[in-house]
Amino acid sequence: MSDETITGIIAPIRMDYRYTPGTATSLFLRAMKEGRFEGRRCPSCSKVYFPPRGGCSMCGVEFAETVPLANTGTVATYTIVNVNFANRAVELPYVVAEVKFDGADITTSLLLKGVPLEEVRQGLRVEAKWIPEEEWDYSLANISHVEPLDEPDAPFESYKDAI
Ligand SMILES: [Zn+2]
Repeated sequence: MSDETITGIIAPIRMDYRYTPGTATSLFLRAMKEGRFEGRRCPSCSKVYFPPRGGCSMCGVEFAETVPLANTGTVATYTIVNVNFANRAVELPYVVAEVKFDGADITTSLLLKGVPLEEVRQGLRVEAKWIPEEEWDYSLANISHVEPLDEPDAPFESYKDAI
């Protein structure tokens, strides 16, 4: 018997489950299936949430209005990932960007491609790249990643409240 200390084990697990989305998430997932970005606007503070939720976390009121959003946005902040996690099929290093889509007030985490790591920055203007239409499902995974646009960087004032 060895005196080696065991500090961890790898134990693959599988869990089957059924997810039942609420009204807001159902509207969002249907829009994604049809290739549309849709946010929801708070009737009190007018902030637009994307992905939408049932109500505003700041005001505590239910959303009522659906707002179409652009396929373009701004990198509000980002992380360069150098340590992968299990089952992640992305080559290291990669960038996860918090993207504030045009017309939204909060950010969405997406993979950023098409820009050297040393050029990744806040304010970078990006466009969502969708997977092939025949593969669209009820999922944010319809967006493969975002890529830079050939536009000047957005001013800090335009995304500072989303950070
Ligand atoms: Zn609000």
